[in-house]
Amino acid sequence: MKNKTLFRRIFVSNLIVSALVIAALAAGAIAVIDRMYRGGVEKTLMNSSALIAASLDGGEPVETVAKICEDFAKESGVRSTIIDSRGNVVFDSGANPGDMTNHLNRPEIARALKGERVVFSRHSNTLDVRMTYIAVPAGKNDGGGYEYAVRLSLPNNDLAAAKRVFGWEIVLLSVAAILFSGLFSFFIARKISGAVGSLGAVAQDIARGNLDARAGVSDIFEITRLGESMNEMAEQLKKRVASLNKRSTELSEIFSHMSECVFICAEDGRLMRFNESAAKIFGVPHGEASGLKFKDAIRNRQVLVAIDKTFKTRETVSCDIDLDGAGKRMMSLEGFMLPYESKTPRALFVMHDISHIKEAETLRRDFVSGVSHELKTPITAIKASAETLADVDDKADILRFSAIIEKEADRLNALVDNMLLLSKIEFTEEAYRDNFETVNVASVLDEVFSMHESEAKKHGDALSVDYSENIFVKGDFTLLVIAVSNLVGNAIKYSADGSSVDIFAQRSGENVDIIVKDNGAGIAPAHIERLFERFYRVDKGRSRNMGGTGLGLAIAKHVAMLHGGTISVESAEGKGSIFKISLKTA
Ligand code: ADP
Repeated sequence: MKNKTLFRRIFVSNLIVSALVIAALAAGAIAVIDRMYRGGVEKTLMNSSALIAASLDGGEPVETVAKICEDFAKESGVRSTIIDSRGNVVFDSGANPGDMTNHLNRPEIARALKGERVVFSRHSNTLDVRMTYIAVPAGKNDGGGYEYAVRLSLPNNDLAAAKRVFGWEIVLLSVAAILFSGLFSFFIARKISGAVGSLGAVAQDIARGNLDARAGVSDIFEITRLGESMNEMAEQLKKRVASLNKRSTELSEIFSHMSECVFICAEDGRLMRFNESAAKIFGVPHGEASGLKFKDAIRNRQVLVAIDKTFKTRETVSCDIDLDGAGKRMMSLEGFMLPYESKTPRALFVMHDISHIKEAETLRRDFVSGVSHELKTPITAIKASAETLADVDDKADILRFSAIIEKEADRLNALVDNMLLLSKIEFTEEAYRDNFETVNVASVLDEVFSMHESEAKKHGDALSVDYSENIFVKGDFTLLVIAVSNLVGNAIKYSADGSSVDIFAQRSGENVDIIVKDNGAGIAPAHIERLFERFYRVDKGRSRNMGGTGLGLAIAKHVAMLHGGTISVESAEGKGSIFKISLKTA
């Protein structure tokens, strides 16, 4: 359908309707006025002719009546004729009666002579125009017939002229009315279309995103109501948009700050979105992923296979991803199709680091196998010694095997004690921290010194303790003593007799370093990295021989960590080792 403006529609249709109505009214008015006018003229002429007839009826001589007729014709312009019963024209105001033919065959005359009052319109042969005749009977005789017929005649032209005059007036008035109606329609159309137009402009403004645009008040009630509804709608829309913006910002922030690596791929190969973690993991620049193909951005084959599988199966896909190919960075990936309508289907992928879980699993496995192994050795020795004991009689052998059983039992005991201590430190960290007190590092060192003094003497080692001041830390005295004691015990164990072992504490900025230094066997660099692991030993035979459990350094490390500190070692094979526990001062 062709679009027309509201203005044109209202204006043109209003104009057409009012023009048609005015034209119809004008035509009707002309017809009615014409009819009334004709009726009036006919009635007047009928009365006049009746009056003339009455004179003849009253016995007035026809000449006198002819004179009256002549005067009447002169004044009114109406042609008067008197015809006798034989059809002869006795008098005619317009022509010489002698020149006129017999009128008996004229229908109006024939009917009037029979006593009828006639109004008749026909063509006049005499004047050659269409005429209206009013004919009445006159001069009633004793026989009931009529001596004369009086006829008044008026050319139709005269009536038409009158009609033309008032017709024109009506036409002019109608034209004026149509013009006035057109003007009125113009203003109404302009007003309505203007109001609707400005409402439309506001709606367009809102549609373009200006949610502050508001419709003004109009003096047309419906338009004002529409404008108010639109304003309310815009207000609601503004609130909705604001809340959606808020939610979208929140979601974007969550998305980008998630530690999980999150990304969205489209089936056509595009990488649609990815968060900071994903950018870091895949080494793509953070930001919009426009134009990026996931096959180029993600270089990990396992991830690409998982993406393909998600799009193929349309089902949730879960798998483990080995990021570095060495089992050190393990990720768990989950992919699923996004459940909204889109030209190209999209899938969301979430990948989180499970390295620590895998690491813990490995640790647990290693620990269990380590513990089993550690337990097996003394148990086997105890079993073998006990079996042998049953068969020996020699007192010295009995004592020897009993001593082995005792030593292995002690070792088992120490092993169990150390394992319990380690698990206690690991699993009740909070409880320990809650009970931390201010501990003087000097008193820890003194305690450790006195614990190992006699042992050192036994080995001919020079054990020294040195601190120049009282340095305080927040911690657990017993655990700190155990940790430092483990280091000093090792220093004595793994140094040849006659070595020197120095224990000292010194400030280092906000920290205090507790150092245990020996000039013993030292540790080869290859072992340093794993030295603090549970059950890790450089020389297994020697350690066992010395009653070691392989947990001393692991305990020292956990104690340092519990205190928010660190443990480290510097060592040179054959030259000695320096173990250092760094703690924050109180
Ligand atoms: P262990 O009970 O075997 O001593 P630790 O955890 O205390 O267990 O020590 C782990 C290993 O580190 C030891 O077996 C030993 O080989 C080595 N080690 C520890 N301290 C020293 C040291 N001061 N000098 C040389 N080697 C050491």
